[in-house]
Amino acid sequence: IKKVVDVVVIGAGAAGLMCAITAGYRGRKVLVLDHANKPGKKILMSGGGRCNFTHLHSTPANYLSANPPFCISALKRYTPHHFTEWVERHGIEYFEKTPGQLFCSESSKAILNMLLTECEWAGADISLKCNIETIQGIPSPQSPFSGFMICTSIGTIQCESLVIATGGLSIPTMGSSPFGYKVAEQFGLNVLPTRAGLAPFTLQPDDLARLATLSGVSCPVEVKLNGHAFKEPMLFTHRGLSGPAMLQISSFWQPGQNLHIDLLPDTDVLAELKAWRQQSPNKRIETYLTTKLPKRLAQTFVEWHQWDHTFQQCSNQRLNEITETLKDWTIKPNGTEGYRTAEVTLGGVDTHSLSSKTMAVKDIPNLFFIGEVVDVTGHLGGHNFQWAWASGFAAGNNV
Ligand code: FAD
Repeated sequence: IKKVVDVVVIGAGAAGLMCAITAGYRGRKVLVLDHANKPGKKILMSGGGRCNFTHLHSTPANYLSANPPFCISALKRYTPHHFTEWVERHGIEYFEKTPGQLFCSESSKAILNMLLTECEWAGADISLKCNIETIQGIPSPQSPFSGFMICTSIGTIQCESLVIATGGLSIPTMGSSPFGYKVAEQFGLNVLPTRAGLAPFTLQPDDLARLATLSGVSCPVEVKLNGHAFKEPMLFTHRGLSGPAMLQISSFWQPGQNLHIDLLPDTDVLAELKAWRQQSPNKRIETYLTTKLPKRLAQTFVEWHQWDHTFQQCSNQRLNEITETLKDWTIKPNGTEGYRTAEVTLGGVDTHSLSSKTMAVKDIPNLFFIGEVVDVTGHLGGHNFQWAWASGFAAGNNV
């Protein structure tokens, strides 16, 4: 079989579908290829099944990249309001969970159905269970890449523009693959080292043993590392530390580094301890702590640090120690849970080789890279989908 289309998009995920819709409405004949048996699997599993589809206050500062200004142009042209308007037009109900974070009220399926309906309206076709075997540039007298020949398990396909939207390496069971990085290398692009981002931490065996009974306990904290800080909930798990605060900081963490955790952000702990000592000298430290922290956490810290005293037994030095431990709990994770549970992949196709306006390779203007495969990674909270929509839209308007 030999099929000829204007545009082939490899990857029927968030970015690929957005690109296909945008190009389809421009009258381009688009074919989306995916090796999975269903499109948009990550959309379905996202946001705990309710897809945190955007963040209203997304700005370029919410993204990590070796080339921070790269994401500005695409994000400016396709904003969270554009996507939200679209969601509203499709009658999808949503709510703002924490400030700016928009989730589906019912299920992520609504977002995927919207994208698939729009693909149909835009005339973009999707072929699933399609394995890509080879990609070759088609030379012409004007250019070594006037088009591409793609050999696949469903036959050979010829196209003018090729878009790589195969995502990152996280959650291997969901069809992720290093395909996009390999294509980039094949065409001479630089690929920056990849690592798991937005991933829970595992702890050193000693810490894990000490904190094992806390599995399931959650509390608001402020975590700090190398000038980055996130004030969000933390969750103790049977493997270590998770919850939004830990996922966020994991994207900035390198093996061997300590996390600094303020267990009582917004509290002047020393002033409160001194007030308790004055007003309730016979009360125990644990009593104070259980008014501020989940009970199990308070008990664990009391046992661990031997704070089993009444206030009148505490010197100023003791109160300072307690304050420091609570305001700057310093812990060295063993590692992260890695790609198995990470929400995103950091690193990827070096943006220095891409046009920030179109997502095309500067030297090969009809080859495009979009979404997570590119070295642009968002914070937790809907920023990763916003990048997928914005980069997909940018490429869709230029294929
Ligand atoms: P993907 O959506 O991963 O799509 C890539 C597509 O390419 C897939 O369909 C895959 O099958 C296909 N593919 C891969 N390799 C090949 C190959 N060799 N041949 C053919 N096809 C291939 N972000 C948010 O903003 N909000 C959230 O609530 C959120 N929740 C998440 C929850 C989880 C558990 C995970 C894992 C991620 C979450 N993310 C969330 C991140 C978000 O899902 C991704 O950043 C986003 O899906 C990236 O879009 P993409 O189109 O680049 O890649």
